[in-house]
Amino acid sequence: MTDEGSNDDVELEVRLAEQDEFEPPESFVEQANVTDAGIYEEFEENWPDCWEGAADLLSWDEDYETVLDDSNPPFYEWFTGGKLNASYNCIDRHLPERADEAALEWVGEPVEEDNRTITYEELHREVNEAAAVLRDLGVGEDDIVTLYMPMIPQLPIVMLACARIGAPHSVVFAGFSAEALATRMNAADSEYLVTCDGYYRRGDPLDHLEKTNTGLADVEHGVDTVVVDRLGSNGDDFGHDLADDQHDYDDLLADHEGATVEPVERDAEDMLFLMYTSGTTGQPKGVKHTTAGYLAWTAWTSQSVLDIKPEDTYFCAADIGWITGHSYIVYGPLALGTTSMMYEGTPDYPTRERLWEIIEAYEADQLYTAPTAIRSFMKWGEEYPERHDLSSLRLLGTVGEPINPRAWKWYYTHIGNEEAPIVDTWWQTETGGHMVTTLPGVNDMKPGSAGPALPGLDVQIVDTSGEAVEQGRAGYLTVQKPWPGMLRTLYNNDERFIEEYWAEYSDTDSDDPEDWVYFPEDGAKVDEDGYITVLGRVDDVINVSGHRLGTMEIESAIVGVEGVAEAAVVGGEHDLKGEAVYAYVILEEGYEGDDEMRAAIVEGVEDAIGPIARPEAVVFTPELPKTRSGKIMRRLLEDIANDEELGDTSTLQNPEIVEDIRGKSDD
Ligand code: ATP
Ligand code: MG
Repeated sequence: MTDEGSNDDVELEVRLAEQDEFEPPESFVEQANVTDAGIYEEFEENWPDCWEGAADLLSWDEDYETVLDDSNPPFYEWFTGGKLNASYNCIDRHLPERADEAALEWVGEPVEEDNRTITYEELHREVNEAAAVLRDLGVGEDDIVTLYMPMIPQLPIVMLACARIGAPHSVVFAGFSAEALATRMNAADSEYLVTCDGYYRRGDPLDHLEKTNTGLADVEHGVDTVVVDRLGSNGDDFGHDLADDQHDYDDLLADHEGATVEPVERDAEDMLFLMYTSGTTGQPKGVKHTTAGYLAWTAWTSQSVLDIKPEDTYFCAADIGWITGHSYIVYGPLALGTTSMMYEGTPDYPTRERLWEIIEAYEADQLYTAPTAIRSFMKWGEEYPERHDLSSLRLLGTVGEPINPRAWKWYYTHIGNEEAPIVDTWWQTETGGHMVTTLPGVNDMKPGSAGPALPGLDVQIVDTSGEAVEQGRAGYLTVQKPWPGMLRTLYNNDERFIEEYWAEYSDTDSDDPEDWVYFPEDGAKVDEDGYITVLGRVDDVINVSGHRLGTMEIESAIVGVEGVAEAAVVGGEHDLKGEAVYAYVILEEGYEGDDEMRAAIVEGVEDAIGPIARPEAVVFTPELPKTRSGKIMRRLLEDIANDEELGDTSTLQNPEIVEDIRGKSDD
């Protein structure tokens, strides 16, 4: 890097450090799907009928009679009386206009020749054939089909095939353990499984069928299994023989070449899918989503928040095994008839330029990813994106955890070139789609703050008694009115549904919807403009000498220290204070984890929050234990801080790091 270059960088840093509000770029606003700020008032006045516009984005076999049936809270029903099919909405209806346009752009790993463009017409054919295969196996309407596949085209194809025949899918993230598979199949009583032989991770073939079979051994009922051949086609194979109740997907397809299957008319409230939450905070919960409300919600938010248009090439770098992939790789984008990208690999294989290469090659219009990825990019350095033309990017998005202002600004300048707005989208598996975020063509952006609640949503930050807290004070995020994309219940467990999400702030004996409040278990604060800063899970609170400190606030202070790429803090037992703050820190390349750095971190925390939050210990580590969706597994760090036996590490993407960190902590 030349001296001149680094001076520019310093100037840029200084300019950005001072700026805490950003107007949406003019060039973006000019073409945005939503630009009228009046939408907030309009939706409020017109609630709940304001959601008819979202329903209008769908094609209905039969019109709905009622927008919202709230006669039995919290079991709300949306668009009741309506009939539709999600697969028809995501495929068939686009054929007249878009048969030859790409529905999916699949980028494989590591063999370039594997890359596939799947047009809407091809998707239609493959989904029909897959639907015929499932039917032939005996899958009927409302039978739950478990899908245990990585980012290969057959995953969305079989999801849509399930939707076509009215069989809810339950996708289990491929990186999850055999045990996680068995737990979920048992809980859902799922008698059908679609899996694959294996897949590639950083160039090496992984044996997925072995893991599948280990899981199946713990399933309490009979299961018909379909095995997709991902590896064999490249000559890699683990030489498994299929059991009698296991079928080769290609063999089954061969029997149904060219088959067509009529999309089944589903009631608006019929289950579209089941998704077990990642379980970062306890036992996984079987979140039930329905056909109309969910599809309307994901289509509407894809349009309003992600600004998706049919002619876009839209890239969400999440995994379909996570809700973000369900809502914003498959259902939302395809309902709008756009081109949705799927990337099989990781961002750093074969090089740290991989994502930027893909974006340049496909001229992607949007990039939607997680703060954890952005912080990695930042740590690797801007030279990687700088080598590529990223000017096709019109909008950037983040999801999954709070994004600290430094990472936000890095994303904004080095990826978006200050020309693409960022949507920081707060939502959950349970909410189906976006809830709190700016509308990119309407609102100013404030780094670190997700933004206002979407139009038509009543989000309030309250104290323990349910009263709204003062501006700027930390409280609990609540949603005071239902919305179409909401979960309908926890599968087979209405009681736990009420217990988990409603009991805290509702009068559970009442049948007046006004008395019911949804509680997502996140802490937040709100500013004078109604912008919400999400502080993290409410159970992620450290109690130091009676002071309740949010882990997120401390982490944000640490990440603000020059040279720090990422941080996680947890509470460890402490004789005097009750709990003390333990900090686990990843540094940017070129920085030393020495006493000076430790002192800078302690000072950063004291300045931002106060001496009470001063970390008891700062441990430097090259990585943090993370789930595949990028969530830090704090409970494992807590185990380390408290010198306890480690909990289950099987859902981690990097289980080996845990012992490594423990070793360092003992020093
Ligand atoms: P489990 O509920 O099983 O513990 P999980 O909560 O990790 O799993 P998800 O539904 O994928 O599973 O994650 C939703 C959570 O992620 C939210 O409740 C919130 O804590 C966090 N989150 C998501 N997006 C954002 C965001 N933009 N800003 C801050 N936090 C976010
Ligand atoms: Mg959760």
